[in-house]
Amino acid sequence: MYGLCASLWAAQQQKMGPSAAPLVAGDYNVKPVPFNEVRVSDDFWTPRLETSRKVTLPYTFWQCEQTPRVRNFERAAGLSEGKHEGIYFDDSDVYKVMEGAAYSLQVYPDTMIRLYLDRLIRLIAAAQWEDGYLYTFYSLPERQPEKRWTNIRQMHEQYCAGHMYEAAAAHYQVTGDKSFLNIATKNADLICSTFAPGKRTDPSGHEEIEIGLCKLYRVTGDRKYLDQAKFLLDQRGRKGNRGPNGDGGLYGVYAQDHIPVTEQTEAVGHSVRAAYLYTGMADVAALTGDMEYVKAIDAIWRDVVGTKLYVTGGIGASGGNEGFSGKYELPNMTAYCETCASIANILWNHRMFLMHGDAKYLDVLERVLYNAVLSGISMGGDRFFYPNPLESTGQHERSPWFGCACCPSNVARFVPSVPGYTYAHKDNDVYVNLFIGGDAVIETANNKVKLAQQTKYPWEGKVTISVEPEKSGTFAVCIRIPGWARNECVPSDLYRFQKAVDEQATLKVNGERVSPDVKDGFARIERQWQKGDTIELDLPMPIRRIVAHENVRADRDRVALQRGPIVFCLEWPDNEGKVLNMVIPDDAELRAEHRPDLLNGVVVIQGTGQVVKRTMDGEIVSSRAKPFTAIPYYAWAHRGKGEMTVWPARKAEAARPEPADTLTYRSKTTASFVHMSLDAIKDQSVPDSSSDSSALQLDFWPHKGTTEWIQFEWSQKQEVSNVKVYWFDDTGRGECKVPASWKVLYRDASGSFKPVQSKTPYRTEKDTFNKVDFAPVKTDAIKIEITLQPKWSTGVQEVVIE
Ligand SMILES: [Zn+2]
Repeated sequence: MYGLCASLWAAQQQKMGPSAAPLVAGDYNVKPVPFNEVRVSDDFWTPRLETSRKVTLPYTFWQCEQTPRVRNFERAAGLSEGKHEGIYFDDSDVYKVMEGAAYSLQVYPDTMIRLYLDRLIRLIAAAQWEDGYLYTFYSLPERQPEKRWTNIRQMHEQYCAGHMYEAAAAHYQVTGDKSFLNIATKNADLICSTFAPGKRTDPSGHEEIEIGLCKLYRVTGDRKYLDQAKFLLDQRGRKGNRGPNGDGGLYGVYAQDHIPVTEQTEAVGHSVRAAYLYTGMADVAALTGDMEYVKAIDAIWRDVVGTKLYVTGGIGASGGNEGFSGKYELPNMTAYCETCASIANILWNHRMFLMHGDAKYLDVLERVLYNAVLSGISMGGDRFFYPNPLESTGQHERSPWFGCACCPSNVARFVPSVPGYTYAHKDNDVYVNLFIGGDAVIETANNKVKLAQQTKYPWEGKVTISVEPEKSGTFAVCIRIPGWARNECVPSDLYRFQKAVDEQATLKVNGERVSPDVKDGFARIERQWQKGDTIELDLPMPIRRIVAHENVRADRDRVALQRGPIVFCLEWPDNEGKVLNMVIPDDAELRAEHRPDLLNGVVVIQGTGQVVKRTMDGEIVSSRAKPFTAIPYYAWAHRGKGEMTVWPARKAEAARPEPADTLTYRSKTTASFVHMSLDAIKDQSVPDSSSDSSALQLDFWPHKGTTEWIQFEWSQKQEVSNVKVYWFDDTGRGECKVPASWKVLYRDASGSFKPVQSKTPYRTEKDTFNKVDFAPVKTDAIKIEITLQPKWSTGVQEVVIE
């Protein structure tokens, strides 16, 4: 634990930046209390903010220096020579970390960070062209004016610009120094004059600039940036812009460019692009009063929360498009749930709340925050998940960095901004949105109200809020009563608590019980407030079992556990190494225990479940009782790789039974190459089809057109007379196709492999076992040799050797 010392807090109150008075008319009905007005002091968030400042920010800057990201700017600035290295949109990572650093600077004035930012800003200024263009990819090895804007669907020039505007606006707000802002407005002016009616009208392939332009409008008051954001939104999916086939082509649905944004009602395509789009639409709607945008994003929100949201708050189920699948398609092991998409989902839901004043958006926000987002970053602050799956057989671990580093840099900018989601105000009323210990001074229409929270949230439901208005007066303190405390798992029927709990949230003011109406998710306590008043909120925190809508196939006969806002998972280290073979029956008693020694201090859930096993006749039976321990999902993958599940089975059919002791299962198995899981081919779980990736497969991707092998060995000779293979083929989604051919070999007495004498053909049919019979052999090893189709990979779902 540490707290900000009083002098720092005082320094922070003397704002370094410009006046907070808004320059623009309109904007959201409910106003957020910016992060820099909120002081955090609790056991949960303080250490995370500390880690973000001391580890994540310096670490991600270091990575930007080590990888060619900063070097590209140095070269574009003329400090050294060379070509562009890395990915074409790498500039955006530097901007995002700078944005995070600016936020951090506001709360912890740090000369080193300030000076480092100044150095980067000088580099960026020198890399900017005279007319405002800024993008290192087309600036190296020398400037290529003929290439710029030639491929804006793919090249992310406007995406990078958007992140630059966000960083520059943050830097200006914090420091009052216009050096970065001037670079941003010069670039934005160029974009305004290039992309305009009668000139270029084709939309960018990756949304983000719209959010950045709204921020530029807010800090400069120059209306043209808002108009430009609206113009760019309105070009998306517009007839004349939709490519030769009129459908937006490759980037149509993928980049939400298939129909005009005001006609969109469903979340489609790449989920980060999508949620940035919806966030930008909310901003423009708030600033212009355009209700068409609101109608569209309201419908899209219902689609996401009703059919496309993971129980962790993650969005974007599919890795193939890094985005949304169909309704209720929410596979767990292959869940993509990109960390950036979770952050974007928070940005969007926060704006939906500010627009509508309804706490249901904060319910979603809180679910994403404590689960999907926190999973994306290690507790040490320097390891990251890109996808955040809800189930693992041990193939997942956080990485120090990625070639495409959008997620680490997004985490670097997001975590320092978390305090800004805690409070809001409207007219004379103040809102407590999240339960985070610390305090804030909120400037309302006619008063200044200091709120201070004391709480051990998310582990305990007691929150003490002291209310200190500068002058006593009548106003409302609106306290969010989370959906989960009102027996509502999510604001839709996608997930529900298996049992309603009678216990209700209670409120006291100065020790006296009060029962205000809960409207739009807020308990509104309106009275004459004066210094020294105290509110005590007590949220019941029983362990809740969650079941999914029956249309969610992946979660059928499964149960998730939640306590407070925290979603739990079973992970291997606490459960004798295995969790997927377990069943947690509905009547298993559950208890919560606080474990200060575990994973930086967490509450765990314990109980007794059953292990299920497959018999030699293929039957699934419970073999023994086994105690289990569930940990918060965000804390998984800190103790090595292994099994994990957010949705353990509640019925035996949904578990992955311990395999029967078959010849195949007993073998020592090796392969020429392994992508996904080698064990999956002998786990005795038969997929629904060749494209069913939920069953997990061994595949050889990215190998294509090669010859691969899988070998099965035994310590003693076995008589073998047939081999069955179920191929993996995800054509249409991925790059695996049934192979060109295959054959079975056996090891003879001399130790060399010889083909078996087959009696039936080697088939390569989809969606079934392909059985080859051969003259029986006595051998200690069988090898399957597989020749891939040219330009295609392949995979194997299951193998049976008899
Ligand atoms: Zn990302």
